[in-house]
Amino acid sequence: MADPCIFCSILAGQSPASVVHEDEHCLAFMTLRPIRSGAFLVIPKVHIDHFTDLPDDLAGHLLSVAQRYGRRLLDLTPAKRIGYVVHGFGVPHAHLNVVPQHDTFDIISARYVVVDGGAAYQVTESAVPAPTRIELDQMAAALRAEMQPAG
Ligand SMILES: [Zn+2]
Repeated sequence: MADPCIFCSILAGQSPASVVHEDEHCLAFMTLRPIRSGAFLVIPKVHIDHFTDLPDDLAGHLLSVAQRYGRRLLDLTPAKRIGYVVHGFGVPHAHLNVVPQHDTFDIISARYVVVDGGAAYQVTESAVPAPTRIELDQMAAALRAEMQPAG
């Protein structure tokens, strides 16, 4: 890899991490700046940038690990739900964010935030344009087209 990867550095034991889980395929560790206390990441041990490039079985394994510890978070924290997020920005090494959610705004796009003049802002779903039903149907049809069976 061209650039040093902080996650690979953690995997190599060269950078610190608060490890939740480790097995031969993945590592889970606490998020440094959690949205809510208890948030952690699950990463593959192999350096792959895009989550979508992970082999299906590896992606499934990461989610299984996230599930197991996500259930623990429900017991250990005031979270009402556990969110699973792959946004892909930040570190270019695939990572699944596991986020204890206390309310509906714990995982939200900045595109929902409407700044009204100066300091005043509000969070509103209506800030995000809604596609027409025709556009939604067209995208659904494009996704279905030439889809190969999972392999
Ligand atoms: Zn890496």
